[in-house]
Amino acid sequence: KSLDEGLEKTKESFFTKLGKAVAGKSKVDEEVLDELEEVLITSDVGVNTTIKIIERIEERVARDKYLGVEELDRILREEIAGLLAENNTTDLSDFSIPQNIKPYVIMVVGVNGVGKTTTIGKLAAQYKKKGLNVLLGAADTFRAAAVDQIKLWGERVGVPVIAKGMNTDPSAVAFDAVKQGVDEGADVVIIDTAGRLHTKVNLMNELSKIKRVMQKFIPEAPHEVLLVLDGSTGQNAAIQAREFTKATDVSALAITKLDGTAKGGVVIGISDEFKIPVKYIGVGEKVDDLQVFNKMEFVDSLFK
Ligand code: GDP
Repeated sequence: KSLDEGLEKTKESFFTKLGKAVAGKSKVDEEVLDELEEVLITSDVGVNTTIKIIERIEERVARDKYLGVEELDRILREEIAGLLAENNTTDLSDFSIPQNIKPYVIMVVGVNGVGKTTTIGKLAAQYKKKGLNVLLGAADTFRAAAVDQIKLWGERVGVPVIAKGMNTDPSAVAFDAVKQGVDEGADVVIIDTAGRLHTKVNLMNELSKIKRVMQKFIPEAPHEVLLVLDGSTGQNAAIQAREFTKATDVSALAITKLDGTAKGGVVIGISDEFKIPVKYIGVGEKVDDLQVFNKMEFVDSLFK
């Protein structure tokens, strides 16, 4: 799916609400701004980010004295683009990894069902397509289905999967995967982990242990901790981001399932709140439905 197709529902719902909010109005006044605040919040932009955007528009209204409602789309677009740009990490231009690190180790975290395995499969496919040697580690040993699923992706994409079966120590799997990655000269090692949030201490301990064993081979590993969030859960995704960032050093985000949801505004709020680069977005179940996130393309697509 294209980005435009993926964001269709978000766009449709947002502009329908916005249209209602300004119906019969000619200028942007207190009332329109209140309505706009409501529209942004119900579009899952998040309360803090919404307030920030509203305040900036208020400032413009105060400065320019008069703002016609027909200008609201453009102004909103500018403010959202400005806000995203402040999270001034550079967007990836394609599925690439740093050339001077080998193997580049990615630890993937996130709660069950968010699309973690699917995202790993899609990423593996993209790296493979670029001619990189990829190795997957099935360290989500808590659910049998998770191990089977990642094996299935491995077969589908044609990359080896290190697995030791259900209920084995996840850090033992990570150990084997990173060791094999080093021994065989892999370019990328992607480690799946179990996303049990029920106790934060458990999660923290498990993730630290996985990191510690990797560091026996590669002191800097993992080079990337990718948190996968399900965009269709809206504010729940933001809550999970808060929990995971407390439990471990998350360095990148993947926000999935933006297709088929009207809650795509969550990308704006999460990007603004966490200042962690959103690297990928998922816009479908197929292998090609993972995209490198680009802030401006995202805003352009929303306001097209
Ligand atoms: P995990 O438990 O986090 O590993 O989740 P899975 O990778 O098994 O994904 C759960 C479900 O979400 C599967 O049915 C996937 O096909 C689906 N899924 C994952 N990413 C996306 C996406 O970007 N869009 C849509 N529509 N479905 C997705």
